[in-house]
Amino acid sequence: MAAVSAAVDREEDRLTELDSAIGDADHGANMRRGLTAAVASLEEEAPSSPGAVLALAGRRLISTVGGASGPLYGTLLRRAGKTLGTEETADPGRLREALRAGVEAVAQLGSAARGDKTMLDALYPAVEALGDSGGDFEAARRAAEEGAAATVPMRARRGRASYLGERSIGHQDPGATSSALFFAALADTARTVATGERA
Ligand code: ADP
Ligand code: MG
Repeated sequence: MAAVSAAVDREEDRLTELDSAIGDADHGANMRRGLTAAVASLEEEAPSSPGAVLALAGRRLISTVGGASGPLYGTLLRRAGKTLGTEETADPGRLREALRAGVEAVAQLGSAARGDKTMLDALYPAVEALGDSGGDFEAARRAAEEGAAATVPMRARRGRASYLGERSIGHQDPGATSSALFFAALADTARTVATGERA
């Protein structure tokens, strides 16, 4: 979560720019506010299991972000956390199952599907690319980036961008772009852990 928050801090302006083209120019600020609050709460409360970490982060996103992305990402993390339960560790296979459940919850909450030009167009391919073992974080990073890029020619069917109709075509979706940041941070963190480097 700290790595995602740092990535969003670095990319805040880009997220805002994308949202100014087809939305209301607040996606960078929304993500930054929510993740900063989530990381602060995690440092304060130090939850004892991966599931509790995700659930707490999700609650903070929901309570601090006014835009649509707060409840959507918050629901993803809460559902993923609930799926992991209270076990002290989570292997990649369990994490993949948890993320899959979280992404399904986003689709349900947003009444959205693949191809609607939303965060789901990065999230679905990323979770699939994690592979059967759930450990292919680099493939997931690439799939999320490709998924975000693939939203450019799409016409938005959900969220604020859908009000633009045809004019939403030709711009990358801000939420799909922030989803790619989540998976990039996950891949960076997994590599750091695997090589024993310091973050
Ligand atoms: P708001 O649209 O309320 O200003 P944000 O700008 O923070 O909120 O987030 C916008 C992003 O949220 C979009 O780029 C899109 O990826 C995602 N989004 C919006 N509505 C939906 C929905 N119904 N289902 C899935 N994702 C959505
Ligand atoms: Mg917005």
